[in-house]
Amino acid sequence: MAPDVSDTPPPPRSRYAVTKRIEFCYGHRLIDHDGPCRHLHGHNGVVEVEVAAASLDERDMVCDFAEIARVVKGWLDRELDHRMILRRDDPLVAPLSAAGEPVYLVDENPTAECLARLVYEQMHRGGLQVSRVTLWETPSSSATYTRPGG
Ligand SMILES: [Zn+2]
Repeated sequence: MAPDVSDTPPPPRSRYAVTKRIEFCYGHRLIDHDGPCRHLHGHNGVVEVEVAAASLDERDMVCDFAEIARVVKGWLDRELDHRMILRRDDPLVAPLSAAGEPVYLVDENPTAECLARLVYEQMHRGGLQVSRVTLWETPSSSATYTRPGG
C-alpha cells in the first residue's frame, strides 16, 4: 500500500548561521532606574552578530567572517566604542558634550536590550543578512534581539 503522503511532515527548512563576536567598551546610565545603573558606569561589552541563510553561496559560506567583522567593527568603532551612550533627554548630555566627551544618543534607555536592537538595525541597514544580535553587558548578562519573524 502506498504511504499516505498527507501524513508526511514537510521537511524542516534548512538554515545555516554564522556568528561573529566583537568586543567594545562603552559607558551609559539608566534614567529612572532604582539601582546603581542610574549612575554613570562602563562595560567591556561583547556583541555577537548572527548572519543566517537558507543556502550557502558559491564559496560554500553564509557570509565571510571578515565581512561581518568589517561591517560590525567598523560601525562599533565609529559610533559606540569608548563613548557614553545616553538617552536623548538625559540632563548630562549637554554638560558632557560641552566638556568634549563623546556621547551617542538613543531614544530609549540605553539598556542591553536597546543596544542589541540598535546594532541589529544598523547591521541590517548596512546590508548584512543579520538574524540575531546578542549584547553581553557582563560575562553573565546578555540581551538578544532577533529578526522579526525569524
Ligand atoms: Zn550598565
